[in-house]
Amino acid sequence: MQNNSFSDKSRQYLQTLCETIPGRCVGSEGNRQATQFFKTTLEALGWQTRSSEFEAMDWQTRGAELIAEGLNFEVFSSPYSPGCDVKARLLDASTLQELEKLKMEDAIVLLHGEIAAEQLMPKNFVFYNPDHHQKIVSCLESGKPAAIITATGFNPELAGGVYPFPMIEDGDFDIPSVFMTEEEGERLLAYSGKVISLKSDAERIQGNGYNVAAIKGKSAEKRIVVTAHIDAKKGTPGAIDNATGVIVLLLLAEMLADYTGDTQVELVAFNGEDYYAVPGQMLYISENQGLFDQILLNINIDGAGYYEGISCFSLFSLPSGMETRVKAILSSQEHLTEGPEWPQGDHSIFVQFGRPAIAFTSKWFLDNMSTQRITHTPSDHPRIVNHQRLIEIAAAISQLIKAID
Ligand SMILES: [Zn+2]
Repeated sequence: MQNNSFSDKSRQYLQTLCETIPGRCVGSEGNRQATQFFKTTLEALGWQTRSSEFEAMDWQTRGAELIAEGLNFEVFSSPYSPGCDVKARLLDASTLQELEKLKMEDAIVLLHGEIAAEQLMPKNFVFYNPDHHQKIVSCLESGKPAAIITATGFNPELAGGVYPFPMIEDGDFDIPSVFMTEEEGERLLAYSGKVISLKSDAERIQGNGYNVAAIKGKSAEKRIVVTAHIDAKKGTPGAIDNATGVIVLLLLAEMLADYTGDTQVELVAFNGEDYYAVPGQMLYISENQGLFDQILLNINIDGAGYYEGISCFSLFSLPSGMETRVKAILSSQEHLTEGPEWPQGDHSIFVQFGRPAIAFTSKWFLDNMSTQRITHTPSDHPRIVNHQRLIEIAAAISQLIKAID
């Protein structure tokens, strides 16, 4: 297969995933179209596929409105929050200590400053959930406010390049909430103690989704699992995050079309990396309970193919023999360089289960993680993709797999 042909395929895949399909957030119709597309494409390339279904809530809003003494404030419904239409006294807190002192039942609580610096980890997110997040959540749940307003800044490492970011994005948290900029929060503080009205025209919608895995090779006792999350945040085409990862899997599937090795190669479209409940990842873990020891290596692609700069690979706990072979292959590639470990991806699941992993991404995103304004925004668009980077990564992975087998 010529490079040109891979490049055409890559473009077609990107167009399908980001333009033909209307958004790939978990629980939505577009998300199901994307997993179906992944499955049929792999089957056409001769891979045996398996889909596993899970329940997942979709969500929509028709907007939110906040009025204090006749003045309008710009607010947005927090993703996956229930809607509300309340008139109540405004209270505020900038620290957990202040929040704990509030008698907040039936009031509207404004969280601003220090307490609103980070996006709260979802209640049921098991992989990483700091104590102070859990304390804020349980304090709010026991305090029973009618609604919550969060005034947030810019924190791309935890919330992507979105400003303001929703401090609460959790379908398992049932107190209605909205979010606003720090500037609006400052302005609203003047109305603390006064009665304000807040309306968020949002609703939760029951839905489902699928993980799709494709398999080739003889022995299930030895597996190399190559993963990319197929879901995208609401409101973004999700080109770099992470249509490009899925495209690498599809290109790799074609490069390995004749693979007959002993080691089983498993290509997995994970569904839920950018969704509060990570349902696809949780399902994969439960399906592989007791089987993680079969996995020789995980290779995860997330954030690859940015048009500026080269690609990075990061190594996580590789056994020394494998590390030498992997480095010999990857370090010789012109557009690939070794980068630092980064935890914000599905490879972390395998690392937590004691399995070695390699993560591929764009060097630019690792270098600009704390300042970039692309991830999870409309700017994560097909026009910022360099298809050559995707072909290079797929070719390198194909070479790695054959060398390890
Ligand atoms: Zn991602």
